[in-house]
Amino acid sequence: MKKIVWAAIAIIFVISFVFLGLKDQDEKNISVKRDNSVILPSILEENELYVEAEAITKQLNGNSVFDEIDRAFTLTIDGQNFFFIEGVPVVERDGHYEPIQQNDFLVKGKKVYLSAVWLHRFFPTLVWVEGGKVKITNEAKMEQNTRPVQAQIKNKQEIIEQLQVLSSPLKGVKPDLYPSHIPGAKRNYRGGFHEGLDWYSYSTGAVINERTPVYAMGEGRVVRVDHEYTGYKSVQEREQDLHVCQLHGKTPLYILDKLRGRQVWIQYENGVQARFAHLSNISSELQIGNKIDQNTLIGFVGNSGTSGEVNKDGTELHLHVDLLVKGRLFWEGFTKEEVITIIQAVF
Ligand SMILES: [Zn+2]
Repeated sequence: MKKIVWAAIAIIFVISFVFLGLKDQDEKNISVKRDNSVILPSILEENELYVEAEAITKQLNGNSVFDEIDRAFTLTIDGQNFFFIEGVPVVERDGHYEPIQQNDFLVKGKKVYLSAVWLHRFFPTLVWVEGGKVKITNEAKMEQNTRPVQAQIKNKQEIIEQLQVLSSPLKGVKPDLYPSHIPGAKRNYRGGFHEGLDWYSYSTGAVINERTPVYAMGEGRVVRVDHEYTGYKSVQEREQDLHVCQLHGKTPLYILDKLRGRQVWIQYENGVQARFAHLSNISSELQIGNKIDQNTLIGFVGNSGTSGEVNKDGTELHLHVDLLVKGRLFWEGFTKEEVITIIQAVF
């Protein structure tokens, strides 16, 4: 009995020692930061503190590029690449999707801002807020990222194997292979290309409408759920965006995101990603961070983001799903025949 008491005392002693040690370590880190920090110029926008991205890249020896047409921003800090698009509540970090708040990335005129909240979340030891000011460590000697962006050499068999973990989002219905529905098909109305797979009634032979449930395809995590979707308010508003597409001869990424309507994005465990588009409804239980599998209900087929939604004529009801591998559309670099072979092998 005595032995047990002594063992208990010893365990308590060890635990408190470790705990105090950790606490001490934390305090040391904070004091290091305090001694060697500089204040970043920040702005207050709708009660949110923002820092101009240029100031951060300068301080941390990073790189950044803002594409004004796409309203997309590439940030490289400490060997990590981040890719933001205006209005998209997800950041792509080294090809992996991570949820952010819609207002974490802000474009004002030609300047790009990042919220202090996001900066602290992703660089907890480098950037923090203290007394209403955004501070950044002056100590970090970041290695400038000189890693060239390598052209991904893709192999058909490899892609098939990566995608084969997925099952069809519409139970028992294969994606349709109607020529204009194949990824890579031209989309002249917006100067772009069809990026994903489609499931329409007329070309799959199945009944597909707003009562058709959409499932999550495989094991992964939810990174985006558009529960607050508002969409285009009028035909004119959507037409204006399409006009911008015509002007640039391409679909700017921030517009493409609006044209996809109400969406759910999934990051699967093996690096594959899916963007479910045009949904009419999303399962109310679905939340960011949820673990899902092929039997998780995502929502229901719809026409959000399409002409059918703004015209309120019930047309364009279909499911559209983009499939990506580490941030790249799976079909890029393949011929139309190869793309068809991949789709047929997977589904
Ligand atoms: Zn489509």
